[in-house]
Amino acid sequence: MDIHPIDSEPTPDERAAVDAVLGAPQSSWDGGSRGSVRDSHSAHFGGHDSRATRHMLLPVLQALQARIGWLSEGGLGYACDRLNVPPADAWAVATFYSLLATSPRPKRVVHVCDDIGCKCRGANQVIESLEQTVGPAHGHAPHGTHTTLAGDGAVWMRSPCLGMCEQGPAAFVTIAGPRASEHLLGNVTADRVRSILAGELRNAQLTPVWVPRGGGWLRLLKRVGKVAPTSIDAYGAAGGFAALEKAFAMGPDAVIAEVTASKLLGRGGAAFPTGRKWDAVAKQTVKPHYLVCNADESEPGTFKDRLLMEEDPFAIIEAMTIGAFATGCEHGYIYIRGEYPLAALRLQHAINESRANGFLGDNILQHGVTFDIEIRRGAGAHICGEETAVFESIEGRRGEPRNKPPFPVQSGLFGKPTLVNNVETFANIPFIILDGGAAYARIGTAESTGTRLFCLSGCVRAPGVYEAPYGTTLRALIEMAGGIGDGRTLRAVLLGGAAGTFLRPDELDLKLTNEGTRAANTTLGSGVVMVFDDTVDMQEIVLRIAAFFRDESCGQCVPCRVGTVRQEEALNRIAKNGAMGGVPAELALIEEVGVAMRDASICGLGQTAYSAVESAVKRLRLYDAVGAGQ
Ligand code: SF4
Repeated sequence: MDIHPIDSEPTPDERAAVDAVLGAPQSSWDGGSRGSVRDSHSAHFGGHDSRATRHMLLPVLQALQARIGWLSEGGLGYACDRLNVPPADAWAVATFYSLLATSPRPKRVVHVCDDIGCKCRGANQVIESLEQTVGPAHGHAPHGTHTTLAGDGAVWMRSPCLGMCEQGPAAFVTIAGPRASEHLLGNVTADRVRSILAGELRNAQLTPVWVPRGGGWLRLLKRVGKVAPTSIDAYGAAGGFAALEKAFAMGPDAVIAEVTASKLLGRGGAAFPTGRKWDAVAKQTVKPHYLVCNADESEPGTFKDRLLMEEDPFAIIEAMTIGAFATGCEHGYIYIRGEYPLAALRLQHAINESRANGFLGDNILQHGVTFDIEIRRGAGAHICGEETAVFESIEGRRGEPRNKPPFPVQSGLFGKPTLVNNVETFANIPFIILDGGAAYARIGTAESTGTRLFCLSGCVRAPGVYEAPYGTTLRALIEMAGGIGDGRTLRAVLLGGAAGTFLRPDELDLKLTNEGTRAANTTLGSGVVMVFDDTVDMQEIVLRIAAFFRDESCGQCVPCRVGTVRQEEALNRIAKNGAMGGVPAELALIEEVGVAMRDASICGLGQTAYSAVESAVKRLRLYDAVGAGQ
């Protein structure tokens, strides 16, 4: 297909969508008419100014998507004009993100989760019913049929994990137009989806009720359900911002010393020592420094950061401000996954309130500290949760991970030293400042300190986010979530998400610590504990995980791009009784491909794409009986 966005005229709606983000054009350099004095200053306005706005590409494309429902050539061309981005470059970005459409898509779309958590809660039945009554799911490809759509149609699409596993089956509804809206819904039925497609959206669940769970160990969740997440006064009355005041009194070095003494490890999956990271950023002489809060949690089975953002957003703002003060950052970003509209709304409100009350902006609380925060939304790409892919996405590029080194502390966002931590990691900071690092380090175990948020989902009676100190056993955690249903037998537990491993029922006494899971050849990952009983087709679960990695590979490096496809193909052949050369030969091929992905992929996605499959083969012995039959 040829792309001619520059030759196509934008509609007035498309112009309005782009201008609402960027303001009216100033000159012909940014899409306006010639004649302005800026037109004769090519060196400054045309060069530096233009390049400096590239980071607005994704917000502009999202604005077009929200207003029109898809990105036409005219709209894309106008975005290119305004930002001085080559059309091919903008096209590459537009086609990277699954929530952006480059072929006509109706204004109303219901994305129905068909991922592993929702499969345990009836997603297959919802989808089967939709296929029979509404028709097949709308596809993502091919791009650009260049036809126009009549009217305001509606379609449903399949979606990977929407981060709402505790209320599965989940759906994400996007309604384009001048008053665009988004809704993340739980406990959906086929009837509900059909009524939404027919134009109704009653009872949209905008404020899910979270129940704090964790017995006597509630720290990170202590305000959840008790303190209004939209009231800065309520947050202050509950002890909010006391840690920020104390941090200012301590000074940056003492703050970093306490974080180091706490032995806090990153909660995003890599478990890197937070104090060491903060110290490294603070010591960089290159300025400016940036701070990024990674809120793009999209590992299947993970929804803890959504809870923190929806229910305790001021705590995230306070913790980020402490981090910025300690490491010398004046500008921060929160990168929130695109499927979390309520989290984005609550955090934007918290930012506005904090700014209005002197907790953000210039001269914070009269301490001479400057720091402000901007929200960026993801657009449906799991890989943007990787710590360098998030920089690429914020800078207006495809979210493809960078080679490391250089590490983000030296060269991160916009090539500058950058502190990047995930939401739960930041949420621990106020406690460390208030109680002291040594007191914090006494919780948990010697190597894994503090409490941890675990996402319990699948076949447990009470799915949700549970807070427990490191060292709690897997058995105790599952019991906290009510165990599995009467008459059911536990089949397996997926620990750490799609990038984690399956455990057997005889491994429930595993202590959940970083060192304990490492020794047991598994991982805590992002805190996923997904439970499967004997009603679940485990081969289907493994296949869905393989499909997830095939879909989400950014395609940048060969081992992952090819390996994830080959892995899924071989698993599919086994599932369909078509194993080439017998099941053992297929499993040997899968292992060879998996080892290559682990050893040679650029980033964690490719390096872990075989982990769950390997554990299904070797730990669960899932294919032993299958092998005998083929
Ligand atoms: Fe992209 Fe996969 Fe390579 Fe990571 S490992 S850079 S996701 S292709």
